[in-house]
Amino acid sequence: MTRDAATAVIKAILSEKDFLNDLDAKIGDGDHGLNMVRGATAASDALNELNGYENAKNVLQAVGNAVIMNVGGSAGSLYGAGLLAAAEILDENAILNAKTLENVFSAAVNEIQRRGQANLGDKTLLDVLIPIRDTFKAENCVGKSFETLLTEARDAARDGLELTKSLIAKKGRAAAFGKASIGFEDPGAASALIIFRALCGFWKDSRRF
Ligand code: ADP
Ligand code: MG
Repeated sequence: MTRDAATAVIKAILSEKDFLNDLDAKIGDGDHGLNMVRGATAASDALNELNGYENAKNVLQAVGNAVIMNVGGSAGSLYGAGLLAAAEILDENAILNAKTLENVFSAAVNEIQRRGQANLGDKTLLDVLIPIRDTFKAENCVGKSFETLLTEARDAARDGLELTKSLIAKKGRAAAFGKASIGFEDPGAASALIIFRALCGFWKDSRRF
C-alpha cells in the first residue's frame, strides 16, 4: 500500500465516522467510528513522518504501529496486528497482483484469528476479510483479469457484510447481545468494507500498490 492508497482509506474512514458509531451503538458501545477515526488520524500523522521513503511494506508498518499505539477497543488492536502481519510478509519491491493480495490478506486474517479466536460466521470484521482473501486464491484466479478479481472481491466483501445482519455475534461486545444482535450489520465488518472499497477505487485508477 503506497501512501496515496493509505490516504484514500483514511479519507473514507473520516467520512464514515457517524455511520460506524451508529452501527456500534446498536450492538456495542457506539465508539467504532471514533476508534477508526483515531486510527486514521494517527496513521495520517505517521505517514507524514515517512519523509518520502515509501513502499507498501513500510507504509503498512507505519500505519499498523500508529493504529496499535493510538486506538483503544478490540478492532483497533486486531486491525493493527493484522496490518503489521501483512507488512511482515511483504518485501520492499512487492507489486500489486492477486498473489500479493492473497498473501497480504492471509497474513492479516491469520494474525487476527490467532489473537481474537474468531471464525467465519462469528459476526466480526473477518466476515468481510476472509471472503476478500478467498477471492484472490489461485484456484479462483484462473483466466480472470486483476480488474475482474477486484470487482469480485469487492462484491464478496459487500455480501459478507450483508450476511453479518443474519448472524448471532459470538465475539466482542456484541456477543453479550446474543440473539438480539440479529438484524444489525457488524460495525467492524462495515469498516472493513469501507477500507476495501477505498483501496479498490484507488487501485483501479492507479494500478499502483
Ligand atoms: P470495542 O468492541 O472494544 O468497543 P470497536 O467498537 O472499535 O471496539 O470494534 C468492534 C468490532 O471489533 C466488532 O464489530 C468486530 O468486528 C470486531 N471484533 C471484536 N472482537 C473480535 C474478535 N475476537 N475477532 C475479530 N473481530 C472482533
Ligand atoms: Mg465499540
